[in-house]
Amino acid sequence: MMRDFTLDTYKLLIGKLKNSVFEFYTLTHVCKNKPEGSYVVFRHDVDRKPENALRMAKLEHEAGIVATYYFRIKNRVFDRECIREISDMGHEVGYHFEDLSSLHGNMDEAVKSFRDHVEEFRKIVPVHTVSMHGSPLSRYDNGELIRKIDLEELGIVCEPYSVVEDLNLIYLTDVGRKWNNSNINLRDKVNSKIDKKYRSTFDIIDALQKELNGKKLMLNIHPERWEEDLVPWLRNAVWQKMKNSGKYVLIRMRHGN
Ligand SMILES: [Zn+2]
Repeated sequence: MMRDFTLDTYKLLIGKLKNSVFEFYTLTHVCKNKPEGSYVVFRHDVDRKPENALRMAKLEHEAGIVATYYFRIKNRVFDRECIREISDMGHEVGYHFEDLSSLHGNMDEAVKSFRDHVEEFRKIVPVHTVSMHGSPLSRYDNGELIRKIDLEELGIVCEPYSVVEDLNLIYLTDVGRKWNNSNINLRDKVNSKIDKKYRSTFDIIDALQKELNGKKLMLNIHPERWEEDLVPWLRNAVWQKMKNSGKYVLIRMRHGN
């Protein structure tokens, strides 16, 4: 029995993608080269817990694949060491921007702030792409900001939304610890080219042999939602509970609760 949203499950997903003849590319690569054939872009929005991002990046590196990480510049998310380390592994790193909502809708200030922040990132790593933070709690839509910025002039080659549209990618996101959870109303929703809902990562793995076979995918995966597997003491605790209350716990664990 495997729990979902653990690094073990993540490893399984990577293995199955590799077996399904999916290439792994960064956003900049697909944007510049528009490759043929089936591939997957792993887009990681680092909203919190940079240490989880680093752990995921190492795991991917060991598996011989590349991904694209977008870091917020807020507080302790903007961890320079961590950002540099991830970039050194061959992953792409970009800016997860939210300047308009941070500045309460002041567009002129937000444009300036966006440029300054890109420069801040470039002191650490090369930056060719950016992604928008949805800021679900704010009444300001960071999507409006991107339309006011001359990306080309700033040396930004693309952002994920236009890539999904232009290259006809199937977009799947782990938001709400489900996949393509339409119950959660978010701004950073993308026209996903697929109506199917996947309840778990195992459903997606299953679909790789079916409707996702041979397709071009973008998977938006938030590292902070993926934790290490149960530590031994917890496993023991659960085992104890299973012995005590039997089937009920088993069913709950299967549903990932
Ligand atoms: Zn975000």
